[in-house]
Amino acid sequence: MNEAFLMKMLWNLITNPNDLWCRVLYSKYGRNKDLRFSINSQPYDSPLWKALTDIWDKIQENMVWQLGDGNTINFWLDKWIPDGTSLINSSSQTIIDTTLNVCDILNPEGDWNQSYLNENLTTSMTYQILAIPPPNELDGRDMIGWGGTNTKHFTIQSAYNIQRGHIHSIEGEWQAIWAWRGPHRIQTFMWMAAHERILTNYRRSRWGIGISPLCNICGAADETVIHVLRDCISATQVWLRLVPSNQSSNFFSISCRDWIFKNITNNFHGTHDLNWTSTFMVACWNLWNWRNKEIFEEGFQRPTDPTYVILKMATETDNCLHNMWSDNQHETTFIGWRSPREGWVKLNCDGSHNDRLGLAGCGGLLRNSDGTWLKGYSRKLGNCDALHAEMWGMYLGLDLARREGIMHLHVESDSKVLIDMVTKKSNFKGNIPTLVSRNRQLLELNWQVHLSHIWREGNKSADWLANFSYSLSSFDVHFIESPPRELQRILFYDISGACMPRNVRLTM
Ligand SMILES: [Zn+2]
Repeated sequence: MNEAFLMKMLWNLITNPNDLWCRVLYSKYGRNKDLRFSINSQPYDSPLWKALTDIWDKIQENMVWQLGDGNTINFWLDKWIPDGTSLINSSSQTIIDTTLNVCDILNPEGDWNQSYLNENLTTSMTYQILAIPPPNELDGRDMIGWGGTNTKHFTIQSAYNIQRGHIHSIEGEWQAIWAWRGPHRIQTFMWMAAHERILTNYRRSRWGIGISPLCNICGAADETVIHVLRDCISATQVWLRLVPSNQSSNFFSISCRDWIFKNITNNFHGTHDLNWTSTFMVACWNLWNWRNKEIFEEGFQRPTDPTYVILKMATETDNCLHNMWSDNQHETTFIGWRSPREGWVKLNCDGSHNDRLGLAGCGGLLRNSDGTWLKGYSRKLGNCDALHAEMWGMYLGLDLARREGIMHLHVESDSKVLIDMVTKKSNFKGNIPTLVSRNRQLLELNWQVHLSHIWREGNKSADWLANFSYSLSSFDVHFIESPPRELQRILFYDISGACMPRNVRLTM
């Protein structure tokens, strides 16, 4: 049986032991062992159970924990920190106590015992731990997740990747696609093409059952990605007018992945004086789009001058005029901070990450309807990604507002992702991050809280406070009673209603 499916099966046995088939299998062979920690088989066990026993190590390697109360996770041996390693590899001591659970590494106030961390671990590891919310009974039991995906949700695809030894995908090299300033659907298409994910006839034929792999247009070859985008006569005609003739032998000879990669990253000069990346991506997208329309739309005719259509679209993209043909309408609006309604308090919160320092920080402030400063906060977090820093910023701000006795709170964050997570607009397939649950719990208390997204231009004071955290000496929350002098210019700017222009997407 396929190993990825066996892994999926064993994963279900470990995480959903109450499913009927899991109970049957477990009662027969499980021998009352907690499968999270060990498994074994006897010579007379079924071949399936033996196969599961054989791959248990792989599951174990990819099992990561998410902290709840910290009572079941071994501090040194289990994998519970975000980088997926065990702390035993980062110990700065020769002797460690491997009986300690995570909940044992707290001080009497329930915060991380910083002196223990400092004495026993490297600084960079200490920074990572300090940015993790300390275990708390209120967060529920510790949970296990699958380390192969960032949502901690088991997928067969990720098990395949682990089998092939590519745990870390090589997305870095495709950054150029996402950095390109143009329509998202073209970026997505280009990424799919580079990963051979678009549904060409060749790909469909491999699913079997009477599907021809041949190209519908020329019928002369299998329709692969490189065929439809470059080698088919319908595509070659287009490229010959875009690529200078002294470049064409190279252009038409390299393999698909290299071809896409080189053309989106190299500063290549086409026959027209346009940004080559835009020309290339727009051309590929149109070639695929026309191919689809020829197949699916009766009576569709390719443009008589495809090169003209491509160059026009590439020009529009570069001039940000793509709303002429794009379904994303853009309009310039003016954004700035606005004071909250009478009787309400506004919380602006933010988080940031500083690569150079290897640190993350967060901060925020409370202001009333006159724009008067009520209280600010700033905390150096340790090391975590920017999204977690945003989560921290919101959590500490909500917690502060609650303790200040505020009953009507308007929260603004410049992280749309975070707001969608907290307001449950985005669905989680795996475990919910602890800080998101904590934010949700705070929202459910007896007070009125309204959350909204604000562009960064309107959140500058919170951003300043998040960056200010790097200058703090301790990792404790630093409360600020009156605004620091350097921040006053931004605060004044906010209440004077100054606005900055920005392009905003109106429809999705
Ligand atoms: Zn063809």
